[in-house]
Amino acid sequence: GKRIGVLTSGGDAPGMNAAVRAIVRVAISRGCEAYAIFEGYEGLVQGGKMIRKFGWADVRGYLAIGGTLIGTARCKSFRERSGRLDAACNLVKNGIDALIVCGGDGSLTGADILRKEWPGLIEELIQNGKLTVEEADPYKHLTIVGLVGSIDNDMPSTDVTIGAVTSLHRICEAVDSISSTASSHSRAFVIEVMGRRCGWLALMAAISTGADFVFIPERPPSENWEAEMCDVIKRHRQLGKRRTIVIVAEGAIDRNLNPIKPDYIKELLIKKPLELDTRVTTLGHTQRGGRPCAYDRNLATIQGVEAVNAVLESTPDTPSPMIGVNENKITSEPLLRAVELTHQVAEAISKQDFRRAMELRDPEFAD
Ligand code: ADP
Repeated sequence: GKRIGVLTSGGDAPGMNAAVRAIVRVAISRGCEAYAIFEGYEGLVQGGKMIRKFGWADVRGYLAIGGTLIGTARCKSFRERSGRLDAACNLVKNGIDALIVCGGDGSLTGADILRKEWPGLIEELIQNGKLTVEEADPYKHLTIVGLVGSIDNDMPSTDVTIGAVTSLHRICEAVDSISSTASSHSRAFVIEVMGRRCGWLALMAAISTGADFVFIPERPPSENWEAEMCDVIKRHRQLGKRRTIVIVAEGAIDRNLNPIKPDYIKELLIKKPLELDTRVTTLGHTQRGGRPCAYDRNLATIQGVEAVNAVLESTPDTPSPMIGVNENKITSEPLLRAVELTHQVAEAISKQDFRRAMELRDPEFAD
């Protein structure tokens, strides 16, 4: 059987533990060995106790716990070839020939780079005496499989990422709480939610809570949005609405690519004609989720199963897969293409080609 390493990397997301649990247990039940790599790529680079063989019972209780119990980190050294050289050495020394990475686009980019460099890294380790030819011989090929863990739901080519739905639930609960006090005092609240390049959380939260206005990076408002927003809010107030909720994604921008900041919106609301008693709330890290909702536990579990399947089916010629979900079906597609799409989306947004960004995210958007 294969020896499968699993790590979680980048921002933590609820459901990552469920993914690790599924990977460990399915690996064992298929006659493979499972290794947990602690603290993301940091554990891979450092090796030693950071790489531990996991048994069935080591992931007991993982389903219901938020964040990631095997830890995550931003790892600078993995961005350098020298760090990846140490990582490759530690993988071989532990006999690990397959790696499942659960993280965002950065983490998956790193995984793909490691796989591409792999033969060269192994050769170099032999040349500088860190590995013998015999030691290295069984490790000519490294299997990589990606799972997307990200609360932002910012990966094109998958409908939902692990953690996004839990995060959305937390945001809705927070906005509901704020709504009670807003209605009581007849106040306005400008609420900043996470999402630097992706407005999914902001948009879904706005629909789910009946917000008055929402700002997202992908669709900057019209040129005279200030007046428009005030008109909309005024109309809502005239209809008897006692609370005003404006949701702003962290990465919200106007048509000149300038950030739209909650404090600026507040200034507009307290001025004439609205003159609303306005507060700004930044939801911050409560949005990272905590306890995963049932959807994320399920998604992470079935994707974890699929990730082990993908490891067992992979050959040296197949490109590294990324496990996604599209129209409710678990999918697998080349990791590299998915990662490239994220870079193209970022480029389209930076060029103000918002339509292109949406088309890249969702090909059906073009129709
Ligand atoms: P996310 O995975 O959530 O997008 P980051 O972009 O911070 O988060 O990436 C997490 C880690 O993945 C980084 O700390 C780094 O170790 C690794 N990584 C990211 N981008 C690269 C890259 N281009 N090359 C190598 N490693 C990378």
